[in-house]
Amino acid sequence: MHKDIATPLRTKEILHKYGFSFKKSLGQNFLVDSNILKKITEFAELTEETGVIEIGPGIGALTEHLARISKKVVAFEIDGRLLPILEDTLSPYDNVKIIHQDILKANVLEVIQKEFSGTRDIMVVANLPYYVTTPILLKLLTEQLPLKGIVVMLQKEVADRISASPGTKEYGSLSIAIQYYTKAETVMIVPKTVFTPQPNVDSAVIRLLKRDKPIVEVEDEEFFFHITRTSFAQRRKTILNNLTSGLPNGKENKELIISSLEKINVDPSRRGETLSIQEFADLSNVLLKVLP
Ligand code: SAM
Repeated sequence: MHKDIATPLRTKEILHKYGFSFKKSLGQNFLVDSNILKKITEFAELTEETGVIEIGPGIGALTEHLARISKKVVAFEIDGRLLPILEDTLSPYDNVKIIHQDILKANVLEVIQKEFSGTRDIMVVANLPYYVTTPILLKLLTEQLPLKGIVVMLQKEVADRISASPGTKEYGSLSIAIQYYTKAETVMIVPKTVFTPQPNVDSAVIRLLKRDKPIVEVEDEEFFFHITRTSFAQRRKTILNNLTSGLPNGKENKELIISSLEKINVDPSRRGETLSIQEFADLSNVLLKVLP
């Protein structure tokens, strides 16, 4: 087996060899601890038949661990300066493809269809760039890609919000958006010391396993997500106040909103954070029908 990229010394050598300087604006915090990488891959339960999508391979620290135990890795990297480095560091692996592209602009479905024929399942595994974690996760989930799941490192604070339950201060529209599509779990808290440079915030690894179908039935997904976001716009306000001030013509439709809340047995003076995902689904299905 080849020497791991993810040791402080080897990483330093590689960066020095190529005169690479980190771009903070691209969320470049590289992992330099092989044990953490091994654990991340274990949580993803990869097999020789798994196709893996990685976002932001950096200098290939996680990529090589993925390549060793999966069928194929396709990694999207936005920073062109890393391409010659990756070509060098990942040269021992013939099952890795690097795509030089912003993941947010990529046609991931097309890439999956082209690159992953013959794989049994597809996982996304990544140490995400922290400035875009939420848009990346929402893109991967809303585009209805044939993924088994997602195992990613991100800010602990975001992981807490994603896996939060109703009634907690972390619970909000992000918890609902992610849990609507997946079973979400924080599987590991990660200290800052395993990165170079060290990020300013604590990190965590989450595992999102796609549900066969969303956890609740909604008639219009876009409207459902709009209602949840509006309900949390000002956390200290009641659900009624958020909906009347946040929905178009909300004030004129106050009575309709009150009767809709009563219809689904939700007291209008409750706060959004106390409503379950099922209650939000019921609410959006009723409002969709009654609002003009
Ligand atoms: N996987 C490497 C590791 O664990 O050491 C690097 C992880 S680093 C936190 C994030 C990586 O994502 C960087 O390589 C960065 O250049 C890349 N990146 C940032 N924004 C991106 C985007 N929109 N699309 C694809 N890659 C991106």
